[in-house]
Amino acid sequence: MTKKILFLGPAGSGKGTQSAKLAEKFGIEHLSTGDLIRGEIKSGSELGNKVKSIVEAGQLVSDDIVNEIVKAKVANLDAFILDGYPRTKGQAEFFSTVSDLDFIFDLEVDSEALIERLTGRRMCGKENDKNCKGTFHTKFNPPQAEGKCDLCGSPLYQRKDDTEEAINKRLGGYEAETGAPLNEFYGAKVSKVNANRKPDEVFADIESKLQVSV
Ligand SMILES: [Zn+2]
Repeated sequence: MTKKILFLGPAGSGKGTQSAKLAEKFGIEHLSTGDLIRGEIKSGSELGNKVKSIVEAGQLVSDDIVNEIVKAKVANLDAFILDGYPRTKGQAEFFSTVSDLDFIFDLEVDSEALIERLTGRRMCGKENDKNCKGTFHTKFNPPQAEGKCDLCGSPLYQRKDDTEEAINKRLGGYEAETGAPLNEFYGAKVSKVNANRKPDEVFADIESKLQVSV
């Protein structure tokens, strides 16, 4: 399938999961901003070295640099899935001079449901050394012993940005900077997807929307 696809949606909407799944099923390249930046650094290119020094200094990679990285990456692709880019109206305007898009999916989530999902999340304390990736949920997937990982027995922790206050702030920021301006920019091209469902159901919906057009 040669399609150029963009996913929109706030953190926690399942955007990363859905794009990865779609990429795998159809053999399309999945371009997430984080991976692209890491890839550029790893390549050792002139731009990569510049990005490396910015990241090492603890600074944010500017919109212009991300634009350049994406531009170079999509130049030779006739199909891709963008996840996390464009993030602003400025980037969307730039990208429209670089490539067209066949599909734009906006994963819509109910903020109450998102807050319930994220605030209940508990991760295994060993996550960082890659021995264990146990993830639980106080309501939807509770561990057998409270506060302990079923897989390895390590204490579970809650990520600092998984509080209601932090999530609301993140959602507000996303809507102001990305959600509203990009929906306005792309207009009727945006295909709304109800993401308040199980990942498999959301995926089936996305697939059927794609199929209609084939
Ligand atoms: Zn564990």
